[in-house]
Amino acid sequence: MRSALERFAGRLCRQDVLSDTIPVLNDLLRMQVVSRLAQVGRPELYKSGVWDSNMSEHQIDPPSNSQLPDLVGFAPEPVTTRYDAPAVRIQKTIFEKAVELDASDIHIEPRSAATCVRYRVNGLMKEGLEIPRWMHENLVARIKILAKLNISERRVPQDGHISSDRPDGPDIRVSVLPSRCGEKVVLRLLRHNRAIRSIPELGLPANAEDALRALIHRPQGIVLVVGPTGSGKTSTLYAMVHEISREPLNIVTIEDPVEYEFERITQVQVHEKAGLTFATALRAILRQDPDVILVGEIRDGETAKIAFQASMTGHLVLTTLHTTDSVSAVSRLVELGVPRDLIASGMAAVIAQRLIRVNCPACSEPDFPRPIYLKRLGIAEGQPGRLVRSAGCPGCDFTGIRGRRGVYEVLEVNKDIRSALLDGSESEIRHALKTNGVRTLTEQAMEYVLAGTISVGEAYRTCYFGGASDD
Ligand SMILES: [Zn+2]
Repeated sequence: MRSALERFAGRLCRQDVLSDTIPVLNDLLRMQVVSRLAQVGRPELYKSGVWDSNMSEHQIDPPSNSQLPDLVGFAPEPVTTRYDAPAVRIQKTIFEKAVELDASDIHIEPRSAATCVRYRVNGLMKEGLEIPRWMHENLVARIKILAKLNISERRVPQDGHISSDRPDGPDIRVSVLPSRCGEKVVLRLLRHNRAIRSIPELGLPANAEDALRALIHRPQGIVLVVGPTGSGKTSTLYAMVHEISREPLNIVTIEDPVEYEFERITQVQVHEKAGLTFATALRAILRQDPDVILVGEIRDGETAKIAFQASMTGHLVLTTLHTTDSVSAVSRLVELGVPRDLIASGMAAVIAQRLIRVNCPACSEPDFPRPIYLKRLGIAEGQPGRLVRSAGCPGCDFTGIRGRRGVYEVLEVNKDIRSALLDGSESEIRHALKTNGVRTLTEQAMEYVLAGTISVGEAYRTCYFGGASDD
């Protein structure tokens, strides 16, 4: 019977979850066997070979005689808890693994045969546990309960939040989406107490670091940090705030969510359902005598306009925008309805950034990418001998990656660039950048490629967006 159970569990689970699932299955099955034997009046069979209690990790003494009342006393938990227990254990295992991997997100994906758990680590999806299909709904219900969501509603998407029970643990943002095979759950882990990086720790080139320091000591203007999700915009924003947090200034932030907690700074959490949006919070903050305002993200035209107006009236505004590079940030602001003259006079700088994955040196090998990638990145044909990629080894957990590094394009607005911002086309603004010596993300990625620090594929993935050699 033991081997039958193991075969059963083995079919359902991959090896990494097996050790955790077998005791769970054992508990469940043992309870069912005990109650069934009690029903038929033969509880003594429990000890006599039909069921081997050594299988369970919890040694529970079977009843000494065949009296039913003893059996009832022996069953320790009510029915509902008995069935909840495996889901609780699986959920805890999933969360613990995420912390161990230092994952930013957990994906619980129902598929036709099983439910797959994947983690986003260093920006890439990593395969995790595989959970039996029949456990999926219980697991989702467990997470919904933790996130205070409606467990009986399975047809519409739901969003929730799980607060950590430990002061140093991560808060979790929960999103549930109905899909073909069931509800998919994505959990974003927010770590409040993760060490805030200082400006030198960001890894900016020396001249860009000086420029950034000078920028945040300006009395007014707007500094935009741009890039896609996971490019480290928030870290840069907080590094800037950290730099000035001890100065005699009134610093106020509007965030969604509050990701880091500062002692000497007023932080406001956006609450859209209650009507506290970025725009309404920003208006209120302007009446609170601020020197520096951090706006977590500009998502709408109203917030954009108020932020730019504030930057013209004696406030330093630090914010992020979801665009690819510094020039496209201007186009995005125009799209949001910010007048060109307001952009030209309010904008102090745009920092476009990416996090690039560094090749593992232990398993790097020559790379021969297709010519189209080299052409797009502006790498000459004669260079390929120096190109490397990493195939993966035990040292890098078979990912080919050894850490990440920031790449920054710092556009500091001067007289030249300001006049291009006022009425120039996108290509005129790009030209102004070039003549003013701004190093673009693509150019920097290309240098890293030629130095063997990153692969061509990584440069293309992170820093190519139809720029450089196309125009
Ligand atoms: Zn390696």
